[in-house]
Amino acid sequence: MRNMLIVTGLLVFVVVLVVPAAIVSFYPRPSLAPQTPESKQGADLVEKGPALKVFFADDDQLKEMWLEDYLVGVVAGEMPAKFEEEALKAQAVAARTYALRRLKAYGGSGCAKHPEADICTEPSCCQAYLGEKELRRRWGVFSYPEYYLKLSDVVASTYGLVITYDHELIDPVYHASCGNLGTEDAKAVWGNDVVYLKSVQCQYDSSPHLETEAVFTFKDLEQQLEEKVAVPVSGGLDLQVLERTGSGRVKELRVGTATMAGTEVRKRLGLNSTGFTWRLDEAGKVVFTTYGKGHGVGMCQYGANGMAKQGKDFTTILKHYYSGVEVEPPPGINP
Ligand SMILES: [Zn+2]
Ligand SMILES: [Zn+2]
Repeated sequence: MRNMLIVTGLLVFVVVLVVPAAIVSFYPRPSLAPQTPESKQGADLVEKGPALKVFFADDDQLKEMWLEDYLVGVVAGEMPAKFEEEALKAQAVAARTYALRRLKAYGGSGCAKHPEADICTEPSCCQAYLGEKELRRRWGVFSYPEYYLKLSDVVASTYGLVITYDHELIDPVYHASCGNLGTEDAKAVWGNDVVYLKSVQCQYDSSPHLETEAVFTFKDLEQQLEEKVAVPVSGGLDLQVLERTGSGRVKELRVGTATMAGTEVRKRLGLNSTGFTWRLDEAGKVVFTTYGKGHGVGMCQYGANGMAKQGKDFTTILKHYYSGVEVEPPPGINP
């Protein structure tokens, strides 16, 4: 009996004291942001993660924020708040992983465009972030409290968790919708092989971007592609797919006499993705049908929402879209 008590006591000691201490030391208290001396405040600090220097592009200001507070605005900026909670949690973990890769106090790169900041609010540079004013405008005064609480709970329930491969933070890229083509291999888009960014199937996607159309005149196409695309004799279109990626998207095509990457054609024509086909309509215009939205690499957001609807949790969702990863507290990056 006595032995049992000692063993139980030891177990309690390990679980209650040693395990949390190990987690907290990997995700230490912030020291950069203002702190009050009250002891209760100290306990709260741990739940807000490290401090982050955020450059706000809209008002041209550098502000310091707790990482966990910042993440609520990122999830709001990157995914519709009406999405399923497990999908939003997956987004929160991806956003935290991304932010820690930038956080200089963790050896991160900082923001490339604003060197004084860890991260900025420009989606084209770092990741989107929406503040209270913008969220009240978007969600409306009645939905704001409900959605803000929902996203705060989502972030809190994934506190400190990040996505790792071989115990290193991954680059958690994502896109709106794969159009049910499945996700794209990073190598097909950016040329470099990334072991956890492989093409995986996705049949869960019911996004409004599954299939969209864009209509061009021959003149539009020639201007935007800077190539002749009409066949003078038949009046048809001088475009041909030369190669597809593993997921079936357009990798390379012939445009008149030139060869162009699918990504280049997508950019020049402003298409939703590189998963496209085309046809001539009765009016002699060229109709591009595009499947999905975004580069197609990493997590498919609408697919994640579909998985959540089927009862999958955020860890299962993340492990589906990022091959061979773990979802765990940040590995021992030196603060
Ligand atoms: Zn930036
Ligand atoms: Zn998808």
